[in-house]
Amino acid sequence: MLGTSQTSCEEVFTQPLNRPKPLNPLKKTMKIQHLRNATMILRFDAHSLLVDPMLSKPKSFIPFRLWGKNRRRNPLVPLPDESDQALKTVTGIILTHNHPDHFDSAGQDWAKTNKIPVWTDSRAVAKLKKKGQNARDLRTAGIGTVEVIPSTHGRGIMGKVLGRVVGYYIAPPHQPSIYLIGDSIMTDSVMDAISRLQPDIIVAPAGAANFGIGGDILFSVDELVVLAKHAPDSQIVFNHLEALDHCPTTRDGLRARMHEEGLSNQIHIPEDGEELEFN
Ligand SMILES: [Zn+2]
Repeated sequence: MLGTSQTSCEEVFTQPLNRPKPLNPLKKTMKIQHLRNATMILRFDAHSLLVDPMLSKPKSFIPFRLWGKNRRRNPLVPLPDESDQALKTVTGIILTHNHPDHFDSAGQDWAKTNKIPVWTDSRAVAKLKKKGQNARDLRTAGIGTVEVIPSTHGRGIMGKVLGRVVGYYIAPPHQPSIYLIGDSIMTDSVMDAISRLQPDIIVAPAGAANFGIGGDILFSVDELVVLAKHAPDSQIVFNHLEALDHCPTTRDGLRARMHEEGLSNQIHIPEDGEELEFN
């Protein structure tokens, strides 16, 4: 006999089937501070990356809904009080696309004034440079593995009119991995990326935006349920809520639906200014 003990059949069958994953002592924390709409700060190591900055004061730009009683000037709400302090820490911007609710004139001016690099999709770099931004390919940012994943901002003609949007999978060494989907409806590209990459964190736009003509240009609530069930091991942050007139989904409504679906433990719907921490 080589060892001092031998595992019996009985012992094998009485072991728990789902043992907790061993803790990785090297794994560090990733923080997300949600500011407003899709604007948030992603913090890990020495990085403090501002995602899709819309920094304008309330009512700075036109309604996005084309008609109806809910048509109002945007943004609907101010940035939270925490923003001034939080913006002082920013080391770079991550941009998924340059629509005004993701990179408005206030955000563009702020980036230029503070000489903040704008990390983006390689195909957007030249256009942003022409506008005076210090634009660079996110894949060269030195933050670990980065994959660019195409998103689709609406079906058919609407998707084409709204143009190219991308998402980013970012996996820094010894940190949770994150998939920022960017503005999208449900597509095979998004579902495949989740299956293949199994991100620890997913950030998804949840406002179910609609111009009042044509279909939704962001995930419907039903699609968000499918997305969450498709990613049972991911923590999911829903944003793009209650800041723009064409986004009818409310935080309370979304929370209630996720509760009904038994998904509450997996999802996060932060208030403006709230910081979430992931290990
Ligand atoms: Zn948007």
